[in-house]
Amino acid sequence: MAGKPLAAAGRSPAATVAALNRRSGGTPPRPPRQVSGQTSTGSSPETLPNGESQLPALRVGCGYDAHQLEVGRRLVLGGVEIDHARGLAGHSDGDVLVHAIIDALLGAAALGDIGQHFPSDDASFRDVSSLLLLRRIRSLLAEHHWRPGNVDATIVAQQPRLAAVLPDMRRCLAEVLVLPLEQVSVKATTTDWLGFTGREEGMAALAVATVVPMVPAVIDQ
Ligand SMILES: [Zn+2]
Repeated sequence: MAGKPLAAAGRSPAATVAALNRRSGGTPPRPPRQVSGQTSTGSSPETLPNGESQLPALRVGCGYDAHQLEVGRRLVLGGVEIDHARGLAGHSDGDVLVHAIIDALLGAAALGDIGQHFPSDDASFRDVSSLLLLRRIRSLLAEHHWRPGNVDATIVAQQPRLAAVLPDMRRCLAEVLVLPLEQVSVKATTTDWLGFTGREEGMAALAVATVVPMVPAVIDQ
């Protein structure tokens, strides 16, 4: 009976996932109820387009960003200020790592990209800490009943060597994302002097993130 709502009124995304999982191997899962006020953008755990597949327990997104290096700017990566001759240009603090993570989280929830939520022509974001933007994205995810699951990111920079400050970056990010440290991974690599990062014209970052449905006790916080 296609189209009959599976999710009863008031049922949480987590309960819906459990209900759908119980159905595996038996009756094919049916479409979950559309939550009132939400559009069919796929941005909520309860908005699968059809009933042919199970509601996923998590979703994955990827993010990429690059910024120019500029004299006179602070170098901030993962919320940590690093002593270096040049910093990353940008409308905010230019934190390329946090920006890539934001795009990965937004992508996982199909909620657009960083430019849509924090336009570069908005003066209120000038020189702002990107950790503040990350905190706002976590709130946005919560509004859509998602929370970050884990993050894995790579900074691409020829210099400076970042190994010593990676643990500080992880701590910083884990605190803002409200995640255990072991669910936040930050790595760094060089391109062996190849390309714009190798020539030290800029830095780049790549990130993968998962989001998981929030349990009801967390949704209202
Ligand atoms: Zn950026």
